[in-house]
Amino acid sequence: MTDFSPFEFIARKQAGEAHSPDELHRFIELFMAGEVDDYQMTAWMMAVYFKGMTDDEAAALTEAMIASGKRIRFQPKPFALGDKHSTGGVGDKITLMLAPLVAAAGMGVPTISGRGLGFTGGTLDKLESIPGFRTNLTIDELTRQVAEIGVAFGAQTTELVPADKRMYALRDVTSTIRSYPLITSSIISKKAAEGIDAIVYDVKCGRGAFMQSYDEALELARWLVRVSSTFGLKAAALITDMNTPLGRAVGNWLEVDECLRALRNEVIEPDLRELTLALGGTLLSLTGAAGTPHDGWKKLDMLWTSGEGFRRFHKAVAAQGGDVQALKAGAEPHTAGASLTLEAGAAGAIFAIDAREIGFAGVELRAGRKRQEDSIDPAAGMRFHRQVGDEVEANSPVVTLFGESEELCRNVARRVRAAIRIEDVPPNDTPLILKTVTATGEMDWAEFRHSTP
Ligand code: URA
Repeated sequence: MTDFSPFEFIARKQAGEAHSPDELHRFIELFMAGEVDDYQMTAWMMAVYFKGMTDDEAAALTEAMIASGKRIRFQPKPFALGDKHSTGGVGDKITLMLAPLVAAAGMGVPTISGRGLGFTGGTLDKLESIPGFRTNLTIDELTRQVAEIGVAFGAQTTELVPADKRMYALRDVTSTIRSYPLITSSIISKKAAEGIDAIVYDVKCGRGAFMQSYDEALELARWLVRVSSTFGLKAAALITDMNTPLGRAVGNWLEVDECLRALRNEVIEPDLRELTLALGGTLLSLTGAAGTPHDGWKKLDMLWTSGEGFRRFHKAVAAQGGDVQALKAGAEPHTAGASLTLEAGAAGAIFAIDAREIGFAGVELRAGRKRQEDSIDPAAGMRFHRQVGDEVEANSPVVTLFGESEELCRNVARRVRAAIRIEDVPPNDTPLILKTVTATGEMDWAEFRHSTP
């Protein structure tokens, strides 16, 4: 294809035509070589935004994006490899518990995580609140650690899928993020480059999610599962509610501390337990390490109770240079400059806690970044004393804010207060897992958990 014309390539997508795999590979190759300009890539992505892609095109684009960098290869492959991807949420710390538990069950988990984005938190920022913890592992270091310990927590480097980094940056400033095939190829390229056999997606919907509506989340879940399958990746997606922050903590060290308490079997929030075991159990069932998601759930639950999940996490922290003293009960490696507790104005029940507003409040407290170059305060964030459905007395504590100064906490308090709705009666219970999607069908969790995906 020596006479490849970016102009004609873009025009064909504008006309709604499908590209061949060879053309897509060539386009990405030329883009990475600097022979297709950013404005041409942007014009093409805008055409994709409006005209869409077939599954085969999205799979070919994913393959071409992976080919722009290195792939992680396990040779020999010590065990089945799997990972989880969350589309992002508020208080979403599930990876920190799921990855070591799944590794303890015998699966290799080479996680590659990201930083906080907008109002959602990032696994890397949380892990880096453990003093000394190093996430910039080379591919060799990550591979070796997974072979030895079963789990490693890495960051996306320039070695893995560099095309995605450049394409995402262009999409971010040209309003072309929200395209199903572009989101799908962006997510799967990074996961497939890890060399995994299976993946479970946590596709969140609601106020604190990237996809706010259920229908959008379902559509994304279908895309992710279909295109993963085209790749030979065993995949399932759980659509989960993200209207309310997960667990009680929002903020980097606060969330790590909440996970450590859970892994040490001191306090385990029911929503964190349910999501960790459901996603982890599903992952085990995808490779046959468990017969059904429910069997996988039970296996992980036993490992959790026995303390094996904590021991794996401890080993990974030690291997990545983290201070293991920080993992002990009572350790406080970070202390916020100030704290402020907000109380219920009247007796009643917590009716709603708006995850989106809480996410933005976290950013204002400097638990997240407004701009990429901003530094974050590892001690900043919020800890909820009450959760949705809980009854409250007048003047009883509802949430404590942590920040560098009293002034900052006071400034953010108004936003946090407005995000918490207290009514006379609690809301009706809503399920955390709204639907499951696999290559063979869509089911409610109650049915799916006993099926063989
Ligand atoms: N997350 C990604 O990694 N890529 C997207 O395109 C959107 C969300």
